[in-house]
Amino acid sequence: MDSVKYISTLLIANRGEIASRIIRTCKKMGIRTVAVFSEADRFAPYVGESDQAVYIGESAPAASYLNQEKILEVAKAQGAQAIHPGYGFLAENAAFAQACAEQGIIFVGPRPEAIQAMGSKSEAKALMQAHEVPVVPGYQGEDQSPERLKEEAEKIGYPVLLKAVAGGGGKGMRIVHAPDELVAAMEAARREAQNAFGSAELILEKYIASGRHIEFQIFGDQHGNTLHLLERECTIQRRYQKVIEESPSPVMSPELRERMGLAAVKAAEALAYDNAGTVEFIYDEQADEFYFLEVNTRLQVEHPVTEEITGLDLVQLQLEVAQGMPLSLNQEDIQAKGYAIEARLYAEDPANDFLPVSGQVVRFDYAELEGLRMESAVQSGSHISVYYDPMIAKIVVWDAHRQGAHRKLHYVLENLVCQGTTTNQAFLADVVAHPAFQAGQYDTHFIDTHFPPEKRQASSAGLQQAAIAALLADWQEREAKRGLLRSIPSGWRNNYTYPQQLSFQHGSEEITLEYRYCGAFFEIGLDGLTHQVRLIDWTAPNLRMEIDGKQSAFQLTRQGNTFFVHHPQSGNLQLERKPRFPLKEKESGQGIYQAPMPSQVLKVLVEVGQEVGPGTGLMVLSSMKMENTVEATEAGRIEEIYVEAGANIEAGVQLLKLAPAEEA
Ligand code: ADP
Repeated sequence: MDSVKYISTLLIANRGEIASRIIRTCKKMGIRTVAVFSEADRFAPYVGESDQAVYIGESAPAASYLNQEKILEVAKAQGAQAIHPGYGFLAENAAFAQACAEQGIIFVGPRPEAIQAMGSKSEAKALMQAHEVPVVPGYQGEDQSPERLKEEAEKIGYPVLLKAVAGGGGKGMRIVHAPDELVAAMEAARREAQNAFGSAELILEKYIASGRHIEFQIFGDQHGNTLHLLERECTIQRRYQKVIEESPSPVMSPELRERMGLAAVKAAEALAYDNAGTVEFIYDEQADEFYFLEVNTRLQVEHPVTEEITGLDLVQLQLEVAQGMPLSLNQEDIQAKGYAIEARLYAEDPANDFLPVSGQVVRFDYAELEGLRMESAVQSGSHISVYYDPMIAKIVVWDAHRQGAHRKLHYVLENLVCQGTTTNQAFLADVVAHPAFQAGQYDTHFIDTHFPPEKRQASSAGLQQAAIAALLADWQEREAKRGLLRSIPSGWRNNYTYPQQLSFQHGSEEITLEYRYCGAFFEIGLDGLTHQVRLIDWTAPNLRMEIDGKQSAFQLTRQGNTFFVHHPQSGNLQLERKPRFPLKEKESGQGIYQAPMPSQVLKVLVEVGQEVGPGTGLMVLSSMKMENTVEATEAGRIEEIYVEAGANIEAGVQLLKLAPAEEA
């Protein structure tokens, strides 16, 4: 075992949840971690979790997480023997892996040659073909002329798929249904590929119209051992990118697993693969054929799914083989237990083509549940920056049964409090609840088929209840302030009898509530219905209320006039409280008298039915220790009195109504 080089300090050249994930395993193994951070990540959770954290530059990735020289310099200065690249950034950068080797630093990943070979889709396909791994029929030659591509497309048969040779993340791909679409699609794919990867080279593939994305986790060591750690079903995608992954795959038979697993191991052997990797296949269910797509030469985002069913720690295995240790497992040792599923929570807008959004996660909170593994990149208050991938968290659940795992995931998605930014949370819950998803009957078009843009809108069901919750919270906070000022025993409330109005804005919807405090409860009028509402408890962020005899719990966070309200059935809603009394001001000309400032009612000087003249004193108010008598401005009869002596009222609150003499 003298070839083993023990790692005692590891630098993590990444950020977010994957940095946290790697740190967790290092803590278990006694490895000291060095995190690196950019300007935007100074306060990120993973930075605080590391043993040492070093600032490496501005927020733009080129200045920080892609800055190879800087990262190597920090690794050396910190005495790190190894660098874990996570996924993304430098993870599949062969030159970086090479530079690490040259400087005597272990790169926790496969050898640079394997990364290099899989970096090009055309080379990867050629290599796999030579090793009897089935590849999608297609063309990956050097002649990129439109004539040649057209000719090859005819041979393959439409529809065909254009892909960037250097591609990744679904960029530079175009489906072509007919010959007359080819040239335009080619130009668009070239442009996109050139911009994203600096290479406009394309390959052509048969388009598998109803395919499933099934991938195999592979592992190799430096002693020539290779194996696979079963499959992950990653067919639920948007924009060619995964959002939900599950294992085992609902379409997997032992026989198919055997065939695909064998192909995956062949791919690993073809590369003399010596760390964690993933062989991706597209599976044509009708034809029962599968084809190689690509090898990702790194730890995948969705690796926890494999860990949950195998009980293995893939980061630990990565570190062990990177140190030169032989794999401690045989293929026969790998047994799946139960079922795991992962949903990726993104700061993105499903209704707007899933485009990323940035902003602050005001609150992130969830309840523990048996079998839940929350891999989150954020905590309450974290910012989702425009610089990086907008993934907020990976929600992974395990259960002995597939249905059980779906049920758990759905429950977590309904109950997760993630407030402040638009996310795909409600959309994910809808996907998990969809019968086709639950039946395992889906292909890569699942989202487009079952969730066209108009069905991706988070529903505003529950908006009225959320508004009631916000109203109660608002009311109690005002009460508490008054209570403090006047040292009134807590729980004491004024018995208001006058009705008030409050409006909230939710997106383009406005919701207006009329309410009246009646001692033990409120009467709240909404859309022509009156509800009896009781505030059971409001201890931020938990609000419990009873509407017409039904009690439920809400989570409420307030920032000024913005209320973030969560309830499992309505999800996370954001409500803006409108300015308080515009309506009453309009009414004041019709004999309504209002409090000019926050006051206490000292004395009511009149009675209902009483005739008054201009200048008659109606009420004595006290505010800021000054008394102020509200006088009638015209002759008339007192029609209604809304407040009583002792009440503490806000500016604009209605005091009484006077019917002018000519009407009376
Ligand atoms: P990238 O490297 O950009 O991620 P992949 O080759 O891994 O590209 O493909 C991404 C996704 O595109 C796959 O998961 C699958 O949904 C779809 N796809 C790729 N190739 C084909 C094909 N030949 N036919 C149908 N769908 C495909």
